[in-house]
Amino acid sequence: MQNRWDEAASGDGPVEQCAYGSRLLGSDPTLVLHGGGNTSIKSKVTDVTGAQIEVLYVKGSGHDLATIAPVGFAPLRMARLRELLTVPALTDQQMVNELRCALLDASAPDPSVEALLHALLPYPAVQHSHADVIVTLTNLADGDARIAEVFGTDVVVVPYVMPGFDLAAACASAWPEQAGPGTVGMVLMGHGLFTFGTDTQQAYQRHIALIDRAERYLAEHTTGAASTSDGSATASPLPDVPAVELATLRRKISDTAGAPMILSRHRDSATAAFVGRPDLAQIAGRGPATPDHIIRTKMLPMIGRDVADYAQAYREYFERNKVRRGIPLQQLDPAPRVVLDPELGMLTAGRRAKDADIAADIYQHTMSIIDDGEQLGGYRALSEDHLFDVEYWDLEQAKLRRAGAPPALAGEIALVTGAASGIGRACAGALLAAGACVIGWDLADSVTQAFAGPEYLGQRVDVTNLSEVAAALQAAVERFGGLDMVVASAGVFAASAPIAELDQDAWRRTMSVNVDSVAVLFREAHPLLALAPRGGRVVVIASKNVPAPGPGAAAYSVSKAALVQLSRVAALEWAGDGIRVNMVHPDAVFDTGLWTPELLADRAARYQLSVDEYKKRNLLHTEITSATVGTAVLRLCSADFPATTGAQIPIDGGSDRVI
Ligand code: ZN
Repeated sequence: MQNRWDEAASGDGPVEQCAYGSRLLGSDPTLVLHGGGNTSIKSKVTDVTGAQIEVLYVKGSGHDLATIAPVGFAPLRMARLRELLTVPALTDQQMVNELRCALLDASAPDPSVEALLHALLPYPAVQHSHADVIVTLTNLADGDARIAEVFGTDVVVVPYVMPGFDLAAACASAWPEQAGPGTVGMVLMGHGLFTFGTDTQQAYQRHIALIDRAERYLAEHTTGAASTSDGSATASPLPDVPAVELATLRRKISDTAGAPMILSRHRDSATAAFVGRPDLAQIAGRGPATPDHIIRTKMLPMIGRDVADYAQAYREYFERNKVRRGIPLQQLDPAPRVVLDPELGMLTAGRRAKDADIAADIYQHTMSIIDDGEQLGGYRALSEDHLFDVEYWDLEQAKLRRAGAPPALAGEIALVTGAASGIGRACAGALLAAGACVIGWDLADSVTQAFAGPEYLGQRVDVTNLSEVAAALQAAVERFGGLDMVVASAGVFAASAPIAELDQDAWRRTMSVNVDSVAVLFREAHPLLALAPRGGRVVVIASKNVPAPGPGAAAYSVSKAALVQLSRVAALEWAGDGIRVNMVHPDAVFDTGLWTPELLADRAARYQLSVDEYKKRNLLHTEITSATVGTAVLRLCSADFPATTGAQIPIDGGSDRVI
């Protein structure tokens, strides 16, 4: 393990340095994963009365160690924390309330639930991680002996206790019994590592040094690679599976969860090796590496594809344990978050792509922890009752609640063609803002970067090329698990020409992009849309030219009319599958790539109008933008129109030729 402390970058003052050291710890996923660690620094400040008071700056809940700044730390009065540490017992609610009341700043974030533990350690700086190598060593039958073998008497060892007041109390009693002048750390069994020092640099260096010792021990005692069913050290990445198989599994998981879920496939060689193990069900059936993972991965992954069986086992687990908390508990949804299958690899589920990605990150580390543990004599996890306590611990569930209620289209997946610019881009943006995952297709390379974040997948696709369409759809279903919505927006507008001067190539190209490609996309997408948990939706961007054609645009008008007829037939054929197909007829949308300021000025002059008058040349005298169309498309995809299919909606500001 490399010491990455850089004196020049570490900042001025103890809180700045603590934030810097936290980011070093938090940006290494083998040490800290998605909220799995915390840090603190004790310092003195002068308050408004002029009094000097001791303050514990501890990581605030909801702040990520990888990116934390000084403002992410909660300043607590040490004097009050010392008083609290003398109380024999505190409930979670009491502790959270007391910590909040001990804050020096009313606008500070909630302090970490491990704040009291930080307070009792008699050193200014404290760093805490859930390092893979530490949980590997503590999740063994002879974990105590292994920790003693690696660290000797340099660390205090505390048996597993659930985080919160009781853990602080357990550490408070273990400390005087075991701590000596050479103590540099504290190992919490089944949980992680604490180190401390006179400043953050020393606490960090001790952290790295202890991790390094554990890493060297593991390197000597394990091969560092997963073993496969045929005994080889590696496996090939898993091949494609039919997209419909993935979408079928996503549908079952969504139905079991009671809401649409994203399902993301991982089939790299390390995953392939793990799911290929003959003892997969046995080793993966023991539980998570640390209990806080449970809110992301559930206690156990689903082995194979029997969702009903998994859900039944989850309900039984809840029934067995629900009396433990002594308060009425609401059962969480019984759907798996991690699926392990020898053919599929690892699939992770979540209400958002981000959640599925977090579950994947955590379980990828879990697989390597289990592999190493097996080579050290047998991986084991905490018992079911301890794990249940954390899964149904209000303070852990609060972490999820902090994210707020999921948006309307969370867990649903929309494919938008022509997503790099204009109307397609506006539709993609509106769908993303409503919480959907969006697959954006376009001929322009810029589509891959059109939007940021895990909910967006941009693919450069020529919609007239069947093999590109099929490959992109396959990759998209591997990424998100299925398809709920299609917005067909890609289209071309050939240069205006009268029929007497018809250009056959332009005619064919227009029909190919505007009609043929959509027919093929419909064929490919139908089996996936039919599996959408809330019913599939299709919105086709047609044109005002359909009800009100103009001279000089034969190819465009005919192609859009054919597209509408295709969509009407789809509405008829697919209603039985619960798929709604609707069309919009935009007109005079000028904020697209087709319209340059010069072209707009030229057209306006031709009608002897100003550009503004030209843009609003409709009955309502309103400007129609890509965003106007995007909003209408979003509404048609939403639950606002559950009983509408085959509809054609003008978005033209009102036209006497259409009305
Ligand atoms: Zn912890």
